[in-house]
Amino acid sequence: IKNKNMSKAISQVPFAINEPVRTYEPGSDEVKSLIATYKKMWKEKSAIPMIINGKEVKSEEKVNISSPQDHQHDLGYYYKGTMANVDEAINTALAAKEKWNNLGWEQRAAIFLKAADLIAGPYRDRLNAATMIGQSKNVHQAEIDTACEFIDFLRFNVEFMTEMYSEQPVSDTGIWNRSEYRPLEGFCFAVTPFNFTAIAGNLPSCMAMMGNVVVWKPSDKQVLSAKVLMDVFMEAGLPAGVINMIFTDGKETAEKVMSHPDFAGLHFTGSTKVFQGMWKMIGNNIDLFKTYPRIVGETGGKDFVVAHSSANVEAVATGLVRGAFEYQGQKCSAASRAYIPKSIWNDVKNVMESQLKTIKMGSPEDPSNFVNAVIDKNSFEKCKGYIERAEKSTDAEIIFGGKCDDSKGWFVEPTVILTTNPKYESVCEEIFGPILSIYVYEDQDWTETLKLVDETSPYSLTGAVFAQDRYAIAEAYKALENASGNFYINDKPTGAVVGQQPFGGARASGTNDKAGSKMNLMRWVSVRSIKETFVSPKDYKYPYLG
Ligand code: NAD
Repeated sequence: IKNKNMSKAISQVPFAINEPVRTYEPGSDEVKSLIATYKKMWKEKSAIPMIINGKEVKSEEKVNISSPQDHQHDLGYYYKGTMANVDEAINTALAAKEKWNNLGWEQRAAIFLKAADLIAGPYRDRLNAATMIGQSKNVHQAEIDTACEFIDFLRFNVEFMTEMYSEQPVSDTGIWNRSEYRPLEGFCFAVTPFNFTAIAGNLPSCMAMMGNVVVWKPSDKQVLSAKVLMDVFMEAGLPAGVINMIFTDGKETAEKVMSHPDFAGLHFTGSTKVFQGMWKMIGNNIDLFKTYPRIVGETGGKDFVVAHSSANVEAVATGLVRGAFEYQGQKCSAASRAYIPKSIWNDVKNVMESQLKTIKMGSPEDPSNFVNAVIDKNSFEKCKGYIERAEKSTDAEIIFGGKCDDSKGWFVEPTVILTTNPKYESVCEEIFGPILSIYVYEDQDWTETLKLVDETSPYSLTGAVFAQDRYAIAEAYKALENASGNFYINDKPTGAVVGQQPFGGARASGTNDKAGSKMNLMRWVSVRSIKETFVSPKDYKYPYLG
């Protein structure tokens, strides 16, 4: 009975290709349709429930949802859960486990391939618009994250899953060896950040794809698009209890989950401190668990751009403007510190200036706004603090931007801080806002500067070198070997594409398990090796015994 769904075919899944990015040119039908959806959703007053065991769960506590671009606009509320809801989600997941685990992999694949097609088609505008409203992304940023990256995660992960399943050991004469990729024993926990709807969707779904059951706690700053993701999963046919979405306090939830004997894996993306706190909790409770939990965390960054004197000036300036200011610098991969040689600095600065003065800032409802609002008051205040301290500092000056306006939304101008101190606070710390720090070095100090880049921050997520001189590229390539998990040559350090540049960093940036790759999926399975002997020996004596 257990194997009633075992397949009678070695099926092949559709070949994964990256979802084409819609361009949303002014006046196009696609931009009209997206903005019309945005306007419609803007007027909706949501009442967003948790989803546990496939059912809507409401609670006593309602938390208002507002938009970063208009903090007084009422978008409704979500229901904040209690620790009883965490228990319910864990128990539900464990109850769903056996049936889900026994379902053939093709059935699981079909659900997630269907989810990808739903997002590519009927849900695309709604999911993009929810991200634009709730997380303040412009049409392009919403499209590359919400639609394309998540569709890619789903389709490529299905392909990687089948590649993994196909990896089988050799068999000697008379025996048959097999590897079985079992899901983890127990339940998994996904904790996701506000800044990428694709990450919010991928963390729980890739674990479920591998046969696991999941408790998912999204960021409370991403509930609008989290709701749409859950709608998609359910329409795609994800059985009740496989992914349970709860809106609960992060720390308390983590404490509860990580003291449960069946806790089997943590899939986290967010800030370094929070991840380190959770790792400590797991360590403290290690004797409680039935199995050693898998721990995957992708965390903060302080991503660099280092230019050589041979670099193309326009390429450097464009890499900085896009890399530092797209999505208001709220990408873990955002360029936030740059090292420019003196000989080209004036030219780089002039090109940046000419680009920055054309940048418009405002609500994503107007697609011509390149920069939108930062996520919330905390982020706004944090950015303002760095700007005010730079204004007063003798080590630093603000050379572009610096204005902050919270009268309607959380708007911080794209800001460039020029510093003479390579260890100035804004060069070392993750700000997670539209603030770029620049240090100008003497051309002859190229080799020392590479060392500085490597040693300045505890992070190692992304980084870029700009140079035409191949010896310089090769030197940076080697000197910065451990300074980033994703390294770019003559390109901005953001915008990794699933299947093309597997993403993740080391040091304080995470466990580097590369989201959207087979390496990541491997963490959510526990391999069983099977050896079958066809004709078993009947006597204990080996030939050497005579
Ligand atoms: P965050 O750490 O504040 O929150 C992430 C998640 O953890 C949220 O769901 C939050 O509710 C939860 N949380 C908060 N405090 C918690 C606690 N004490 N215990 C357990 N859970 C808790 O991060 P954020 O502001 O949502 O996202 C921004 C951060 O994420 C940045 O540091 C960024 O670099 C990082 N990030 C990294 C990557 C990557 O791939 N390396 C990708 C995206 C974001």
